[in-house]
Amino acid sequence: MPSFPKRLRLLLLVAVLLIVGFLTTSIASYLVSRDAVREGIVGTALPLTGDSIYSEIQKDILRPVFISSQMAHDTFVRDWLLNGEKDPEQLTRYLSEVKAKNGTFTSFLVSEKSRNYYHSSGVLKKIQSDDARDAWYFRVREMNKPFETNVDPDWANRAKITIFINYQIFDYQNRFIGTTGVGLTLDTMSRLLKTYETRFQRNIYFVNELGQVVLTGNSAQGRNSILSHEGISSIAAKILNHQLKPTQLSYQLKGQLIQVNSRFIPELGWYLIVEQNETADLRPVQHMFQLNLLISALITLLVLCIAIYSINRNQRSLEALASTDGLTQLLNRQAFEVVLGQKITELTRRPRPLSGILIDIDYFKLINDEFGHLIGDDVLRKVADILRHTVRTGDTLARWGGEEFIILLDDCPRAKALELAERLRLAVANYDFALPRHSPVTMSLGVVQLQAGETETEFFQRADLLLYAAKSAGRNCVMADA
Ligand code: GH3
Ligand code: MG
Ligand code: MG
Repeated sequence: MPSFPKRLRLLLLVAVLLIVGFLTTSIASYLVSRDAVREGIVGTALPLTGDSIYSEIQKDILRPVFISSQMAHDTFVRDWLLNGEKDPEQLTRYLSEVKAKNGTFTSFLVSEKSRNYYHSSGVLKKIQSDDARDAWYFRVREMNKPFETNVDPDWANRAKITIFINYQIFDYQNRFIGTTGVGLTLDTMSRLLKTYETRFQRNIYFVNELGQVVLTGNSAQGRNSILSHEGISSIAAKILNHQLKPTQLSYQLKGQLIQVNSRFIPELGWYLIVEQNETADLRPVQHMFQLNLLISALITLLVLCIAIYSINRNQRSLEALASTDGLTQLLNRQAFEVVLGQKITELTRRPRPLSGILIDIDYFKLINDEFGHLIGDDVLRKVADILRHTVRTGDTLARWGGEEFIILLDDCPRAKALELAERLRLAVANYDFALPRHSPVTMSLGVVQLQAGETETEFFQRADLLLYAAKSAGRNCVMADA
């Protein structure tokens, strides 16, 4: 059948068009969403987290700087130092007042003269120039700015990591007489990091100038140094760059892309690192992409099924149309010849008697002439109906020509065919065609059984001869070969 490859080509074209169309839109929308997610992380989310944490830090540090400045300029403190540090209890009371009132973690004062380290509960120790832990004091003494923030363990408080504000104290003649200030623990900072981490699903932590992790929420616990940690070590050198401006980087870890925003915080001498796993954030986009593909595949399949179904249906009705006679809805001559050809081929495999009945309506021309063609058509339809209802379901009934019909009887010997022909003849002869004037409708019939080795043409010719014989014998009768 030449139409099949053509149909297949059409279906293939439809499938290819649908697949290409769906793939293009799915991939385009995936890329757009991916870029939007990436832009959201890199352009907005990470810098904003960095900004808000940085401003929280500044807020936390500015107030203690202000408190320390007040302490350093307090006339009581300066007078007490200048008056020979008498009655240390007065100072410790002052320090514990400052600490309690401002909620700081610690408060301290070191006298340049006595090198005593005072804090809220008394004299802690003497500052020694050869003690490495006291190096900060000598650094502050030599500073040419009034204060510094310094992150150190607080030896007075179980070496807890503390941010110290170290403020220089000068006498009324501007001579250096000591250092005072307060200390803050990083608990609040750490809490803040944890909140941000859980709320935004990001890793947030601080590293010092050597790359060691110094403060973290939950995520980076277990990391010691970004220089040695898998993945981030590849960009560690770029992070530790002393740039005040935030740096945007990314690294690969176990096949996942991690976006990193880092900035140097001069007040702490630390780098704030905010990380977000872009691959994890892209998961919903990927799921959407897969869902899109699935829906596209289903729609393509559905469209193809509908197309195949309607093409087949069309094909079937075209075929039916081509093989059916329009007036009687019986098979036409061409279709009948195909069936006969098939039957003859089948007989060689399974031999059985095959008979045929050729039918012609008598004096049909008269019916047409007397009542008109429309009534003639009606008679043809009615005769076809009578034939259809009388033959067996397995038999093949066709309109052979104008007012001629043919029946092929499978597995039916001549005698049985003759019986059937007689029944048909009587059925038509006795039927009331309700013609305007009484006028009998009869048929002449020729019955043949296919003989061994006989061709289709020979078979038809014999049937035709018998029909002609019936006509000659006066019509309204059946003739069969001997
Ligand atoms: P005979 O008994 O010898 O067969 O006489 P007849 O009048 O039937 O003769 P014939 O077979 O020559 O005439 C057939 C007529 O059938 C001729 C034709 O006009 C008519 N006919 C053929 N097809 C149709 C049709 O579709 N509708 C109608 N109304 N008439 C048709
Ligand atoms: Mg005829
Ligand atoms: Mg006729």
